[in-house]
Formats: sequence, C-alpha cells, structure tokens
Amino acid sequence: MTAQIPYDHQAELEDVLERCNALRQAPVPSGDALPEGYTGTLGHFPVYFPEEIAHAAGLLPVSVLGGGNKLEMKHADARMGSFVCSICRSTAELGLNGSLQSLSGFITHPICDAAKHLAGIWSRNFPEQLSQILYLPQNVNTPGAVRYVAAEYQRLRAELERKTGRSISDEALRASIRVYNENRRLLRDLYAVRRDEPWKLSCTESYLLTRARTRIPCEEHNALLGRALDAIGQRRQAAQDKPRVVFVGGFCEQPPLEMLETIDGNCYVVDDDLLVGLRWLTSDVPDAGDPVWALAESFVERSAASPVQHDARKTKEGYLMEMISSSRADGAVLTAAKFCEPGLDEQVAWSKHLDQLRVPYLVLEFEEKMTSFEQMGMQVETFAESLLFTLA
Ligand code: SF4
Repeated sequence: MTAQIPYDHQAELEDVLERCNALRQAPVPSGDALPEGYTGTLGHFPVYFPEEIAHAAGLLPVSVLGGGNKLEMKHADARMGSFVCSICRSTAELGLNGSLQSLSGFITHPICDAAKHLAGIWSRNFPEQLSQILYLPQNVNTPGAVRYVAAEYQRLRAELERKTGRSISDEALRASIRVYNENRRLLRDLYAVRRDEPWKLSCTESYLLTRARTRIPCEEHNALLGRALDAIGQRRQAAQDKPRVVFVGGFCEQPPLEMLETIDGNCYVVDDDLLVGLRWLTSDVPDAGDPVWALAESFVERSAASPVQHDARKTKEGYLMEMISSSRADGAVLTAAKFCEPGLDEQVAWSKHLDQLRVPYLVLEFEEKMTSFEQMGMQVETFAESLLFTLA
C-alpha cells in the first residue's frame, strides 16, 4: 500500500500567488499567446467597465492600471502636464512605448478631466485601435438612469461587433454574466476571509489574487481563486496583535505593492477599495431576460461607491462608515494618489467626518512610481501602536 502524501496547502497557495505576481508584470497577450477562444484584447481604464460585453465579443478584457514603479518614462512626460496623475501618464507611456499596441481597443470613462483627455490622446496616437469614452450618468438618481446606461452599453456592444466582425448574442452575454457572477462570488469570499480571519490572508495577497484577472480570462481566474480559497481555508496562521483598519483611496491609480506590504506589516487591513473596478458589482447580475438591461440596472442599483461615482444614496462619509462598521475596523488609512482631484476631495470629507466621530485615521499620499517607503513605514507603525494603545 502506498502512503498518502499530505496535500501541501501552503505550497499550493504560494504557487498561486507566484503566478499572480508574474501576471501583474506580464505583457498584454497577443497573437499565439492569446487564450483559446479569444480573437484580441480590449483595454479599459478604471473604474466602472462592464467586462462582460468584451468577454462575450471574444475580446479578453484587459484592465489597464498604469505602469507601476518600474516603468521608465521616455515619451509621455513630453506630452502631458506634470500635474497629471501618474496612472494617466504611465498609461500613455505604455501606449507610446508599444506595450499596448496589440490592444484592439481602449475604453475610458470621463471619471475626471485627466481620464477624459486620455481618450483623445489615444485616438490621435493609435488610430488603428478602437478608442472610445464610455459615458456613465453624472446623476444616477434620475428615473432615466438605467435606460441611459443600457443605451451606452448597447453602443459599446455595437462598436465591438463592428471591430471584431462578430455579433454578440444575448445568449453569449448571459453566459458571460454567469462566468462573472461566479467571479463576484469568489471575490466576495476572499474579502470575507479578510474581514473574519485577517491573519489568514494579507491585503497584499488578496490584491495580487484579485489583480490576476487583468491578464487572464475570467474562467481561468475563477479556477485560480477557487484553488487559493481552498488553500487559505486550510492555512494555519496565528492571529497577531495588530489593529484592524480599512484602506481607502486605491480605486483608480494603484498604490505600489511595497506600500501595501508596509501597512500589512503593522495592521490587519480588513477591507479596502483597491481594484474596485474589478469587483464593482456588489451582487449577482440577473442572468435571465435582457442582459444589457440587467448589467445597466446592476450599475445603477448595486455598484460599489467610489470618489468618481455621484449617487445621493452613497455619501462620501456614508460609504466609508459602512466599510468601517461592517468590517469591525478600529481605524482607517485614508490615502489618495498624488494629483488625483476626486481622491483628494474625498480624503478631505472623510477626515473631517472621522474627526467629528473621533475615529482614528492616518492620511497617506501615494504615487504609483514611488520607491521609498521608509518614512511611510514609520508613520504606519506609529499609527498602529497608537491604535493598539487606545484599544488596550
Ligand atoms: S487617479 Fe484620480 S485623477 Fe487620475 S485618472 Fe484616476 S480618478 Fe482621475
């Protein structure tokens, strides 16, 4: 009789995380490297992009999240003002240095002036790509909002049909919605671990696991998340004496990984708005009936708040407090990307509100290209210690 070799959950998780980290730095797949069944890739800028429509068109949705802190800026700085946020500048650089030349198209949203102008830069410099702005309603609290979003989604659908020469059937859209519903469920499970047993999964690990979907099909991401969740469930890690915090401000430009690691080293990050553009629909999208209407209705009724969505039902202070209370956080790390007007606006409102309620918080500014974290490390450590002192 052969002895059973015990299944090594830690090794399995490390293997998945290693793959995710490699995907974070991987080029956009093209030609023979495209996953089976896909004819091209569609780039989209944060935040609220319905990937299901690209997926149903046979285009791999590629969330474009800037160039990180290893990208050498050679072209974009000469074409954009130095007061523009890093993600816009590094995205333009990735286009101009050829890293995104295989995209079939690039879609952005008028979430702010910088993102709006990126579409113009794209269409002028890369005329071979489909370059579009997907307009979302300025006011979602009007009776016509769902109809308006559905019309925009139909326009996008028609543009993708023209670009690929392939029609997108309702059935294909419903099938894509089902694949993404599974993804939404898995991501909710991932965040439940962070909330309920944060010692089993750090913010950095959860970030890497979520971000992997920017380079692989959603089906493959579902399998990856399934493997990771099984391994995390078996993880044996003791809880440490760390305060519980929420992290906000990572909805568009992405903070460097080292920044997340710095915070993880001192706190349990029990909720965040990182990569919210990959998980903005907060519950399942109905997979029966008109799929475009279902997606549009989900955007209006069941989407995550962010500083670039204006909805009277989700006040700046309200959604932060909801995050803090539902994750039982002791405090908050309020961040904003340098030069990000919507993010900085939100930060002011948040800090004022937390002052009134006497909820402890730490304000940090970041830039995707930052490389020094020593000072930030000291700030986070002091904040964590003061939280622990208050809680003792
Ligand atoms: S980081 Fe802020 S300013 Fe820059 S594109 Fe995103 S929302 Fe706009």
